[in-house]
Amino acid sequence: MSRVYNFSAGPAMMPLPVLEEIQSELLDYKGSGMSVMEMSHRSKVFQTIYDEAEADLRELMNIPDNYKVLFIQGGGTVQFSMVPMNLCKNGVFDYIVTGAWSKKAAAEAKKYGKVNVIASSSDKNFSYIPDCSDLPVDDDADYVYICENETIHGSTFTKLPNTKGKILVSDQSSMFLSKPCNVSDYGVIFAGVQKNVGPAGMAIVIIREDLIREDLDEKVPVYMRYDTHSENGSMYNTPNCWAIYACGKVFKYLKSLGGLEAMNKINEAKAKILYDYLDSSKLFKGTVEKEFRSLMNVTFVTGDEEKDAAVVAATKKAGFDNLKGHRSVGGLRASIYNAMPTEGVQALVDFLKNYEKENA
Ligand SMILES: *Cc1c(COP(=O)(O)O)cnc(C)c1O
Repeated sequence: MSRVYNFSAGPAMMPLPVLEEIQSELLDYKGSGMSVMEMSHRSKVFQTIYDEAEADLRELMNIPDNYKVLFIQGGGTVQFSMVPMNLCKNGVFDYIVTGAWSKKAAAEAKKYGKVNVIASSSDKNFSYIPDCSDLPVDDDADYVYICENETIHGSTFTKLPNTKGKILVSDQSSMFLSKPCNVSDYGVIFAGVQKNVGPAGMAIVIIREDLIREDLDEKVPVYMRYDTHSENGSMYNTPNCWAIYACGKVFKYLKSLGGLEAMNKINEAKAKILYDYLDSSKLFKGTVEKEFRSLMNVTFVTGDEEKDAAVVAATKKAGFDNLKGHRSVGGLRASIYNAMPTEGVQALVDFLKNYEKENA
């Protein structure tokens, strides 16, 4: 067996101990005589898997009782439309646009109401987070929306916006469970799980109970209504059983490491190794203003496309995969989620240092 250090933005690495445990249970899950892949979602065995996953997530994030946890198929993207469809009262939605994902979400919301972009960092190719302490929040806004960590552009909110009393909706896809989160600051948190948790094909939605409404436009498809999922324990139809199972394993693994405080310390130390090198390098520079740099997605460039491509090719040859930056930023991007071991980042930095020396 030979595993590479995989710096993919998503689907991304999962913790090796979790993969090994899944492997050991693959053919016969705990004496059930079948794989979780083959199991009825209505069975007692699967219900236990589900209940434990939810309970462990609640414990990890300290989720208050008045918030529901929903497991919904369709990844993060489906939430771009579920959020406006379900939270629409006045039909006015305020978006803070800090990169490709919040831009996409705002474009989708436009189909369901009036979108105000109340702040944006598009003037500098999304290399910073605007000051959100006193924004022109619309009196009629149904919510204020952010993408808390922009996966493509490599920036992150260090402080939540002042929403002036409006509900905050946050796309946490690429930072979910990377650090402690005060759930009561939000109305809705959602995350596609294939970035920082498990396999692709599902989003976790954490939503304040009173925001789950029944008086929606009747044209809203039944699957797209939060109340459908909430009233049926996320099993109105067949859920993504496999993803729920795998995510549950990751929750237990994170608990065993000491929870989100511990994860945050590890992530800060891990990202520092890479950022410290980038700050000292003459070949590379980070693309995001220091204060707003993501601990999860580290974007950097040489400033020359050909050189960028040569570095990416060299890293690949050396056993570091998926370091090519997104075309809208160029250069390189190292996604260093929870499951990327510190040794992986250290090995990458050692390689880049050496590459820089040899190509000086
Ligand atoms: C990847 C990503 C999405 C989209 O997730 P899908 O599961 O592919 O739909 C949305 N938001 C952010 C921040 C992402 O990184």
